[in-house]
Amino acid sequence: MARPFSVEPRRIFNFAAGPAVMPSEVLKEAQQELPNWNGQGLSILEMPFTGDEFKKLLRQARDDLRALLAIPDNYRILFMHGGASAQFSLVPLNLLGNAECAVYVDSGYWSRKAIHEARRYCILDIVEACRAEHIRPNPRAAYCHITTNETADGWQYRHLPESGGIPLVADMTSDFLSRPFDVSRFGLVYAGAQKNIGPTGLTIVIVRDDLLDRAHPATPVVFNYREQADADSMLNTPITFAVYLAGLVFRWIAAQGGLQAMEQRSWQRSERLYSEISASDGFYHSVVPPEHRSRMNVCFTLPDEALTQMFLAQAAWHGLVNLKGHSQTGGIRASLYNAMPDEGVAALASFMYKFRRSHARSL
Ligand SMILES: *Cc1c(COP(=O)(O)O)cnc(C)c1O
Repeated sequence: MARPFSVEPRRIFNFAAGPAVMPSEVLKEAQQELPNWNGQGLSILEMPFTGDEFKKLLRQARDDLRALLAIPDNYRILFMHGGASAQFSLVPLNLLGNAECAVYVDSGYWSRKAIHEARRYCILDIVEACRAEHIRPNPRAAYCHITTNETADGWQYRHLPESGGIPLVADMTSDFLSRPFDVSRFGLVYAGAQKNIGPTGLTIVIVRDDLLDRAHPATPVVFNYREQADADSMLNTPITFAVYLAGLVFRWIAAQGGLQAMEQRSWQRSERLYSEISASDGFYHSVVPPEHRSRMNVCFTLPDEALTQMFLAQAAWHGLVNLKGHSQTGGIRASLYNAMPDEGVAALASFMYKFRRSHARSL
C-alpha cells in the first residue's frame, strides 16, 4: 500500500529575511563541537569571556573579518549588543560631537526607522531624492547616513554614493558580506548579524579611528564606541555564542572564495528570479526600478491577495518557506543571503514558473 505521506525528510529552503538561513556546514560544525569546544572539555556556551581561550576566539573572528573586507588599520571592528536598531540611536550619540545636524538618505522602510530615532538627537537634513547616487554636501552635518539595502522594499544601491565630504555612515545589515566594498570610503559601517552573518543579537560596527572621540557624555559606557574599542569589545560580557558563530561564518565565506564569490553567486541567483518576474507578462510584478533591484531580497507581488496566499501555501508545501513579504509592503519576498543554497533558488524559480502557468490563464 502506498504511504499516505513521504517519510523522507523533506528538503526545506528558508527564504526568511532574518533571522535567516545559516550555512549548513557551519551549523554542523557548531553542533559537533557544542559540548566540547576545542578540546577544552567545556562548551563555548560555558566559557568565561575573560579567559584567554575566548579572547583568542574573538580576536581571530575580528582578524578574519578584517581580512575578508581588507579593512584598513585605522578602522576598529566592534562586536556590540542591541541589534542594528540600537545603532539608530548609538550613531548620533557617538558621532554628533558638537554638530547639530546630520544628513539622512530616505531609501525605504529601515532608513525611515533610523531617521525616526535620529530625530531625537539632532536636526536632520533628509535627502528625499533617495534614489540618487549623489548627495548634496552639507558642511554643517556631522555625517551622512545611508541604508545600503532596504530589506523590506527590495531596494539596493548598486553603486555606493558620495557623501559630499562628510563621513559616510552605512546601515549594511542586509547586504553586509554579500559583495566587496571599499571600507575606506566610510566613516562607519554597521550590520546586525541575523541577515548575512549569523545569529541574532550581535551587531558588527566598523568605525574609523578619528570618529571615536565624539560621544555625547550621556552615552552608556557599553554603547560608547571608544570604550568598546579600547576594551576589544569585551567591556562587558559580549554575545559569546554569536561571536563564535560569526567567526565560523567568516571562515566559511573565505573557504567559498571570499566576497567576490559571494557577489557573483548573489548576482546569478537574484537574476534567476528577476528574469522569472520579467518573463511573467506582469503576473509577477516588482515596483523597484531594475537598476535598484536588491540582490539580497527579491520582492514582488501577484495579481491579487487570494493568489498571493495560494502562492505562499503551495510554496511551503514544496519546502520553500518564509516567503511572505514584509508586513508593511505585503506580497512575496525571497531573501537570498549568502547561505541560501543554489538549489533553493532553482526550486523557487521553477515553482514560480509552474504556478504562473497554472494560474495566469484563469485570470
Ligand atoms: C533587519 C534590519 C534592521 C533591524 O535589525 P535589528 O537587529 O532587528 O534591530 C535594521 N536595518 C536593516 C537594513 C535591516 O535589514
